[in-house]
Amino acid sequence: MIPTQSFQFGTVGSPISNPKKPGGSAGAVLHIAALGLGALELGWVQSVRVSEATCAQIRAGVEQTGVSLSVHAPYYINLNAGDEEWPRARQRLMDAAHYGHLAGARDIIFHPGGYQGKPPAEALATAIPRLAGCVEELRAAGNPATLRPEMMGKAGQLGSFREVLEMATAAPGVQPCLDFAHLHARPGDGSMNSYAEWMGLFEAYGRALGEGALKTLSCHLSGIAYTAKGEKHHLTIAESDFRLDELMRALHAAGCAGRILSESPIMEEDALLFQRVWREVSGE
Ligand SMILES: [Zn+2]
Repeated sequence: MIPTQSFQFGTVGSPISNPKKPGGSAGAVLHIAALGLGALELGWVQSVRVSEATCAQIRAGVEQTGVSLSVHAPYYINLNAGDEEWPRARQRLMDAAHYGHLAGARDIIFHPGGYQGKPPAEALATAIPRLAGCVEELRAAGNPATLRPEMMGKAGQLGSFREVLEMATAAPGVQPCLDFAHLHARPGDGSMNSYAEWMGLFEAYGRALGEGALKTLSCHLSGIAYTAKGEKHHLTIAESDFRLDELMRALHAAGCAGRILSESPIMEEDALLFQRVWREVSGE
């Protein structure tokens, strides 16, 4: 059984130490629980190629262990794609939501796309009705999954904190995926790395989406290398400038709960570190 605490910790993609047998995503669910962690995000980042039988196996593991499951949809989704490309991009998101739901996931995380040379406000005005249409179609099919556009790490990518909040405010069934490493890297000046800055962010989040939304956060975390233009690549916490302790203290002070997934190169090792620091800070 997974730990009972406000946050469940885990990895995006199978842990590095995932055994060969039973292996795969179904094995990863069991392995997350065996590691003493409580969450897994299936990394369907290239494409969604999974059978209904595999989804049933994953779901059985989820029901057995109580691991909190989400899906990272393929990278090749762009809410601001041209009219010709959009149906293919949309299908990738809908496939991730369909098979994710069969596997027992309640949240589908995806990258919202790029500006394609448009002013950000125009890109957002294209993105929001498309997103709302996806949720409508899922609900009509009896799928309750929450779609979670991720906050992105480069200034040129659709997905600033404000833009993702706006998507979530405008479209029911849409909530953010908070990527703390991306939020730190995007300004490119080393900011968004202190207790006070995180507290300000959680206040804005609660104001926009309601206090209840702070209890069901879906987050990514790792160290990160960046330049003035934002994200370069992910790092372990130890080799980065990320102030893990200040983030955890702010999450605790703001009364947050949910799921935090490691995207560090050492995956579960850092997920276990996050969990240790959370327990120290929260006393859970
Ligand atoms: Zn991502």
